[in-house]
Amino acid sequence: MRTTAACRFILCLTVLAQTARAGLGGLERITVSGSDYVRLGEWCESEGLALKWNRKEGAIEVSGAPGRMELTVDSRKAEVGGATVMLSMPVVNRGGAALVSLGDLKTTLEPILFPRKSGGRVKTICLDPGHGGRDTGAEAGTNYEKKYTLLLARETAELLREEGLKVVWTREGDEAVELSERPLRAARQGADLFVSLHYDSAEKETRGVEVFCLTPAGARSSNGGGGRSEQAAETGNGQDERNALLAYELQRSIIRGLPVEDRGMKRARFEVLREARMPAALVEGGFLSNPADARNIYDSAFRKRMARAIVDGILAYKRAVEKPE
Ligand SMILES: [Zn+2]
Repeated sequence: MRTTAACRFILCLTVLAQTARAGLGGLERITVSGSDYVRLGEWCESEGLALKWNRKEGAIEVSGAPGRMELTVDSRKAEVGGATVMLSMPVVNRGGAALVSLGDLKTTLEPILFPRKSGGRVKTICLDPGHGGRDTGAEAGTNYEKKYTLLLARETAELLREEGLKVVWTREGDEAVELSERPLRAARQGADLFVSLHYDSAEKETRGVEVFCLTPAGARSSNGGGGRSEQAAETGNGQDERNALLAYELQRSIIRGLPVEDRGMKRARFEVLREARMPAALVEGGFLSNPADARNIYDSAFRKRMARAIVDGILAYKRAVEKPE
């Protein structure tokens, strides 16, 4: 009985989510530090989602048909379906109401929670192994990032082909390719997705995996911005919704599949993402500068698992966006 009632409840929420999505237009805008916000409670109601707010701790739980999400007052860090997602603006408390930025709803949370289906197929994946040739990327002693991004791409390609997908490359060997040239190569080869593979380097303690997609125009990057204008729209911003979904599905799949620290789905204005005409994401698969991460990066069995998680993320994205035939 309980199960039936629960099923009916979920079914009811699903129907609500599919038929009664009021859109953001009907929600009252509230300006906070120059940015448009809306009341989280009103948005949840319009989307048929349940909201629970532990006011003492500032923890907010949103649940419903698309899954479960946790937000925290005064924080940009959200957890969606078990994976960390970094918002552009913090959730705030104004006059006893939790507010969330309209930009984050539009370009991050809604594209992830309610992906729009489209007629096209996801068939051709462009893999972009970071660096190459004289550009070694991050270094740890004589271990170069360029070598491990290529090894990871080769593993990923094999698994993608097993899934019936076509793989194209920005580089297949130890070759230097300009950043601006990489998304162009993807477009020339008819890629439906662009997935760039990297490893990182920082201070010794920093570890974990993060997946970036292009920062929407007007929004703040997670990485300081790299000197690019916040307001200008880049070529890649034509795919904002899909970029967010792809980066999220990759981050979630990697976090689920591997014992790595979840640094979150993030935003940056990296050149390969700015110039991509197709949905694009950039995986930072760990830190060569951290001994535990480095051990995993050099380990071929671990690399295979990372490749599997990347492929599963791509497949989750594909399922989310393709209309059934
Ligand atoms: Zn790199």
